[in-house]
Order: sequence, then structure tokens, then C-alpha cells
Amino acid sequence: MKLLFRNIKQLLQVREKGITSLKGSQMKELPTIDNAWLLVENGKITDFGKMEEIPTFEEVETVDASGKILLPGWVDSHTHLVYAGNREQEFVDRINGLTYEEIANKGGGILNSAKKLQETSEEELYVQSARRLEEVMKMGTTAIEIKSGYGLTTEAELKMLRVIKRLKENYPIAIKATFLGAHAVPKEFKENKEAYLDLLVNEMMPKIAQEQLAEYVDIFCEKGYFTVEDTHKILTAGKKYNLIPKIHVNQFNSIGGIQAGVEHDALSVDHLEVMTPEDIEALKGSKTMPVALPSCSLFLSIPYTPAREIIDAGLPLALATDYNPGSTPSGNMNLVVSLACIKMKMNPEEAINAATVNAAYAMGLSETHGSITRGKAANFILTGKIPSYGFLPYSFGANHIDSVYINGKKI
Ligand SMILES: [Zn+2]
Repeated sequence: MKLLFRNIKQLLQVREKGITSLKGSQMKELPTIDNAWLLVENGKITDFGKMEEIPTFEEVETVDASGKILLPGWVDSHTHLVYAGNREQEFVDRINGLTYEEIANKGGGILNSAKKLQETSEEELYVQSARRLEEVMKMGTTAIEIKSGYGLTTEAELKMLRVIKRLKENYPIAIKATFLGAHAVPKEFKENKEAYLDLLVNEMMPKIAQEQLAEYVDIFCEKGYFTVEDTHKILTAGKKYNLIPKIHVNQFNSIGGIQAGVEHDALSVDHLEVMTPEDIEALKGSKTMPVALPSCSLFLSIPYTPAREIIDAGLPLALATDYNPGSTPSGNMNLVVSLACIKMKMNPEEAINAATVNAAYAMGLSETHGSITRGKAANFILTGKIPSYGFLPYSFGANHIDSVYINGKKI
């Protein structure tokens, strides 16, 4: 079945094959065709061009995109979308001035999310997570990474990863799974973190590898959680099982996590709210993609990733949601793109590049996702009638999506 989009007001992010990441000043360029057509065949982008030069096609289903913009679907390279229950009570308590300890005692925090997840059946966890996945697809996300890390026992971590596997099987959206057993130290290991690290390495990783439940390995490298030394240990062990590192670093403190990630050829280092000149230097010339999570900064009222410093130093930058129940209960990539412009002073071209081409790099999907390129998956956002693509981040909080296509099918 062929699908033809005609009269597209602007076709965004048109790239030749082989563009994998955009750095520094390259991020300011967003190649666009005005008044365009685009052909989809067997779920892939076959061809496109200007309306003045459109060939004659037979037996095609046609979509009239007059006044509308067509762009590649968002790629969300960092989420914790599989979780049990929500934490809106904690949110209200925080507004009312309760301390972290008081909130934890009332049932908040990562360890309480873990407890709730351990008590939730795999089926129920799947149902809750599938609902969230459908919600983000409707908001234009067409590829997503999902982490474990709210299990913190072998059984519960495997349960989370099996739910991710089932989502992969049942939905057309591209999904990559990350093992984040080192998200927090469980209470029972509070006095013996080494024993928990050994459990991750010696018991969980072999099982995950055996069932092929994850592509990536992650660790929360932060004061009070896991050290740089712990990070080396987990990433070294992950390598044995072909788990590529994507790590949480520099959210509250710069303690050397970026350098550790670069040393292990991490695919991405994520958060980066606190960056030193040495951290920026360490990323230069590396294969590691820096990833910013601005809706987490919004929700927690913490600093935003210094995007200008990163990009102006000639580095690439990707954007993701960090969708999770504690610090970012939102999987809305449209809001992320807006926040990148409003709060991080990225221009719309940089923000769109960060949420498509660079985001696809950050989840190993450069070959198939992130741009309008012949042969790539026909994953698009078709907007409503809007004046220009700058209107997308400008008019924040409103829904400008007419429809979303994954593999050439409207969802
Ligand atoms: Zn995260």
C-alpha cells in the first residue's frame, strides 16, 4: 500500500542517509522543503520533493496536508515509563511544605515506588504501562527507551523488563530497554552496598542476558546513591553481557560520572544540570551524546542543563522526557521542546534537532529514525494548520498535532 502526502506546507528535517548526530553550529540548521510531497511504501519513506515537480503516482492513498507541517516523530531516549501507581499525594505534600523525610514516611520516594512495584502483578504493571505508552504515542513519540530500576530485587527487575519486552511485541513504536538496577540502594542493603552491586552483577545481569531483556545498562551516579567507582564496576560488568552504557550523571553534583561514561564509550550521559568546564572538555571528541531532561528541572525546580554552554562548545545535545512518577510525571516531548527553547535558550531548530536526529543517536536508532530520509521508517507528526514550525515551541502547552504515523500507519 502506498501513501502520498500532498501540499505539505513545510517538510522538516530532510536529510541525506548517514547523518547520525549534529554538533555545535550544525544544530542551528534544520533542512526544510516548502510546499512538498512525500511518498510512503511498506512502512518506509520512499521519496519526497517539491509539489512543482511531483511525479504521477497510481494506486496511492492520498493525504492532503495543506497548511500543515510534516516532521519526523519525536524520539524519547530516556524514560522510566514502566512503574506502578502514581505519586500525586507526594506532590501535594511537597507544595504544602512537608520535608523529604515526612514524605518518605507517608509513602513517597524511589524506595516506596519500588515497594509498590514489587507488590503489583506483572499483568497489572503491563496494563498501567501500556496506557502511558499509548498516551505518549498520541503526543508524537515514535521511538522510546524505557528503564527498569523501580524493582530493586531480581524478581521485580525482571518483571519490569518483561513488561517492556511485552510492550515491544505488542506496539509498533520502537522500544529499547535499559537495565537500571543501580537506581537506588534498597533498604536491606543500606549497610552493605557492595553486596547489592554483587547481586546486580552476579545474579541479575546473567538472567537479563539469558532472556535478552535489555540493550543498555544504566546507573544513578550521584552523591548518596552510587559512586564513580561503583559506576566503573557496573559498566565493566555490563560490557561482558553486551549491555551498552547510558547513565544518569551530574543531576545535583559533578563527581566524575561523565568522565567514567566517556571512558566506557557510553552511548549517552543524561541529566547534566550541573556541568563544570572539565565535564564539557571530557565530552569533546567522544562518541557519547549529552542528553538534557528539562521537564525534570521544571517539576523539581532545579537548574536546567546549560545547553548554550554545551552546544557553543561544539558538542551535540539531545532532549528527552525522563517520564517517571517521582521527578517527571510527564512523557510529553512537545513540552520538552518548548522548555528547551524557553528555559535553555535553544532555538527551535536546535530543539527539534535535539529531539529527533540526536535523540535517535542516543538510543541507537540513527539508521531508521530521527529524520525524513529515503529508506527510514515512515514515522511522522502531521501538525494542524499552523503558521510555521517556530509556532510549535512558542505556543507551549497546546496540542498542535493533527495525526501521528508509525511505520506509515496512522495511530
Ligand atoms: Zn531518569
